[in-house]
Amino acid sequence: MSETSATFVIVGGGIAGVTCAETLAFYTPTESIILLSESALVKTVVNLRAITQTLSDFNIEESHMSNLMQKYPNITVIIDKLDEINSDEQKITTVNKTIINYKFLCLCMGAQPRLIPEAENNPFVIGIRDTDSVESFIQKLKTSKEVAIVGNGGIASELVYKIEDTKVHWIIKDKHITATFIDPGAAEFLKDRLNNKQKEQSVENAQFSQRMRYETDQNIKKAGAALGPDWYKHLDIKGALNVPETVQIHYETCIQSIKTTQNGLIVKLTDDSEISCDLLVSATGVTPNSHFKISQPLHTSQDGGILVNEFMQSSNENIYVAGDLCTANWQYAPQWFPMKLWTQARQMGCYAARAMSSKHLNEEIYQDFCFEVFTHTTRLFGFKVVLLGLHNAQKLGKDYEILFRMTKDVEYIKLVLQNGRLQGAVLIGDTDLEEMCENLILNQIDLSAHKDSLLDPDIDIEDYFD
Ligand code: FAD
Repeated sequence: MSETSATFVIVGGGIAGVTCAETLAFYTPTESIILLSESALVKTVVNLRAITQTLSDFNIEESHMSNLMQKYPNITVIIDKLDEINSDEQKITTVNKTIINYKFLCLCMGAQPRLIPEAENNPFVIGIRDTDSVESFIQKLKTSKEVAIVGNGGIASELVYKIEDTKVHWIIKDKHITATFIDPGAAEFLKDRLNNKQKEQSVENAQFSQRMRYETDQNIKKAGAALGPDWYKHLDIKGALNVPETVQIHYETCIQSIKTTQNGLIVKLTDDSEISCDLLVSATGVTPNSHFKISQPLHTSQDGGILVNEFMQSSNENIYVAGDLCTANWQYAPQWFPMKLWTQARQMGCYAARAMSSKHLNEEIYQDFCFEVFTHTTRLFGFKVVLLGLHNAQKLGKDYEILFRMTKDVEYIKLVLQNGRLQGAVLIGDTDLEEMCENLILNQIDLSAHKDSLLDPDIDIEDYFD
């Protein structure tokens, strides 16, 4: 049993944990920081580019922990796993029996893919989370002729678009695709792309495969953190059919039962139809990794997320939580809401670090500006997608109106207004409207007089609001 101490101890080498460690190293360069990571490869945010005040674009790189320690001499990375927290004595014990004393602890252990209950321990069913699970999926897919994907969020949408050379059954519980992010109109707009996929170049595939192999050092355990924004972009996700893939969408249905046969699965849906497939991908959300031993249990939400206040503090004031593991439990700004996304994992990791360092230095802190408005940018079906504020009219009940402009296969713009004020926006394609929309959401200008011209393509609306 060995023992060590640090002012700040962070558990988890994903986006939230690494961002937290880096931010702490910046704010408190003379304090000791320990990052406990299951893997020697940690996730680092690179190529960070501010698109607007609160919206940024970035890539995630898996880099060896030694790079982090070289860059920040006060960070020590320990490769191990959290076993137990003794919150009364402010110390944790790792699986390999190292005791680490802390002044402040930040838990960033992320979440696990939630497999449909019928599918647990079934070799033909896979959940996608990290590099290992993607590799395993790609291997299994190589011999698959028919794949079923269940789920209607980002992962399922990305996969359905990216998979080649196999028949795909997309099982969704909603009336339209990608419902976690977009409305039925945007879904129709994007669905056209699904039937006419435009794939990335195979040259990039080769380059990325090389990088993945390079990272697969036998001595490095790489399981763990969720993938980064470009996880699928350069991968060859191909099945065993030498004919173009077809996608059949099964709307408003879920899995009723699964029968395993010698060749794969027979999946019965709740609408009583049956699908046979040789691989099933379960992409139905995540469950926070909050099942660890602790002397005084922390307060959690119904989905198992650890509740945090506006300073990312759990019910124990010396234990902070960030990323997929936490549930924001403060009075949200009108146009913000939490979602388990890497954008928010980064923002929360960064803000938890600032909150901890302020507490340590007895400084006052105000909540970060990024929690004023929900922002997310991603690529769906080959399009740039920007989601701002209450883009799906979340929280607005029926009291809102929509302004809308669409040019088939080019752009889809939806503005959500309440009392003439912009509450949210969906911007698909290269619309160049994100900055203006964000400003209009933040300053809540009354747009009633401009509604007719707001989305007129012949009028440069930015001129109105300069
Ligand atoms: P993670 O990245 O999961 O990191 C948690 C870390 O904690 C891991 O390294 C894990 O090994 C470690 N850990 C767990 N338990 C322990 C323990 N006991 N001891 C020590 N370490 C431990 N988000 C988007 O915004 N847009 C998308 O398009 C999108 N697509 C996604 C696609 C896929 C396939 C997946 C899996 C996720 C996607 N997400 C997307 C979600 C996004 O990746 C997560 O929200 C984000 O990575 C959460 O970061 P995190 O640091 O909280 O958790």
